[in-house]
Amino acid sequence: MKRIFPAFTYGSGPRQSCWWDETIDAPDWPCLNENETADVAVIGAGFTGVSAALHLAQEGASVAVLEAETPGWGASGRNGGFCCLGGSKLSSAQMEKRFGPEAALDFARAEVASVALVQSLLNRFSIDADTHSRGETILAHNARAMAGLRRTLQAGGIDGMELAERSELDGLGMSGPFHGALTIPVGFGLNPRKFLFGLAGAAVRAGARMFQKSPVTAVVRESGRYRITTPAGTLRAQNVMIATNGYSSEDIPEWMAARYLPAQSSVLVTRPLTLAEQQAQGWTSAQMAYDTRNLLHYFRLMPDGRFLFGMRGGLMSSEHAEIAAQHRTRQDFERMFPAWAHVPSPHRWSGMVCLARNRVPFVGPIRENPGMFAGFAYHGNGVAMGSYAGRLLADLALNRPPDVPYPAMMRQQPPRFPLGPARRLLMPPLYAVLRLADL
Ligand SMILES: Cc1cc2nc3c(=O)[nH]c(=O)nc-3n(C[C@H](O)[C@H](O)[C@H](O)COP(=O)(O)OP(=O)(O)OC[C@H]3O[C@@H](n4cnc5c(N)ncnc54)[C@H](O)[C@@H]3O)c2cc1C
Repeated sequence: MKRIFPAFTYGSGPRQSCWWDETIDAPDWPCLNENETADVAVIGAGFTGVSAALHLAQEGASVAVLEAETPGWGASGRNGGFCCLGGSKLSSAQMEKRFGPEAALDFARAEVASVALVQSLLNRFSIDADTHSRGETILAHNARAMAGLRRTLQAGGIDGMELAERSELDGLGMSGPFHGALTIPVGFGLNPRKFLFGLAGAAVRAGARMFQKSPVTAVVRESGRYRITTPAGTLRAQNVMIATNGYSSEDIPEWMAARYLPAQSSVLVTRPLTLAEQQAQGWTSAQMAYDTRNLLHYFRLMPDGRFLFGMRGGLMSSEHAEIAAQHRTRQDFERMFPAWAHVPSPHRWSGMVCLARNRVPFVGPIRENPGMFAGFAYHGNGVAMGSYAGRLLADLALNRPPDVPYPAMMRQQPPRFPLGPARRLLMPPLYAVLRLADL
């Protein structure tokens, strides 16, 4: 594999004390150590790959998932658990300008459908994923941002949005350095690992074969099929799905080279807060929330009283850089919630999200490689959108038009970033500009 971050990124270091690992044991999948065949080979066992496998297996397709590490090892098993709208880094105004108002509406419909899909999967397969929160609350970090939230409310689009003035936040149990809030009543918080393993269990029951510790090292087309090579076995399949997102490789397949840009996100989780501690800070709300910064903070009080707090990660990846990123996350946490400065956060980790140059997710066929599909670039919002992408990919592989919104902008092949394998160099100036805009 040719990956663009240092080896540390792809090892156990960044996820060593991930809270979710303690909440549920991983299923024990075998390693691929023979020669197998399938209709569809899925590379990557996160939300995208597992959802694709589930939806395919339910339709009777023969499907095999190959995961380089363990199930949910990537972002899907270590995210913030915000099942929410999102997936693109374009604002709706930018989308309207670039693609037209109807296309922007189409994307908004897909976002709502993606959250509904996760809810229906939880219900259908009786997955208990510790859900909470009635939609999500956006907290204004300054007066200008509050004016922006007012405009969002006026523009409408989603029924039931509620604005709260700064003076109302204490009463809502959302005290902090915020200038007001807008609640969007779509979405909920969940334990991502429980959700993922629930989906994986359903996929296995439907007939999907899952393999862990089976990194794909080559995908070659021969005699009208793909030969997918792993260190100990080979899989031959008509169709291949690339579901590797922020952990992708420049050569699996070569079409991927420079079409994705991984970026780090960091999370901490505190020990359970007592009610008195919650009240001392004035944060007792079960709402999942994020602030209006471009380099945003996301946080939620979970059902067991633990507080999860996340933000952008570092630009470098190494043991030293990881410690520095964790330190910055802790600093921002204490600045925003000073009454909890004494509360330890024993769980701290980071992982890779994935950006596209056109700033919209891609879900579709890879034209250059017949029978191959990919879904990636959810811009840090892939709990719902990744699961949804998997659902869309299943339809595409089954050669039928999806019966859920499939926005045209998500079908456009993502252009390549400049600088090729050195494209990480684009990030420092970008972050500097975003940081300035956040002042
Ligand atoms: C810290 C953090 C917090 C986040 N918080 C949120 C949030 O609150 N809400 C939200 O919506 N989104 C969040 N995200 C983003 C979200 O987690 C991702 O968008 C989503 O999980 C992507 O799912 P995926 O299946 O496409 O990719 P991943 O879950 O990253 O899975 C890709 C898998 O592919 C495997 N792989 C890679 N190469 C190969 C190969 N050659 N062979 C076999 N397997 C391979 C990897 O090992 C990995 O397990 C967060 C991400 C991070 C890192």
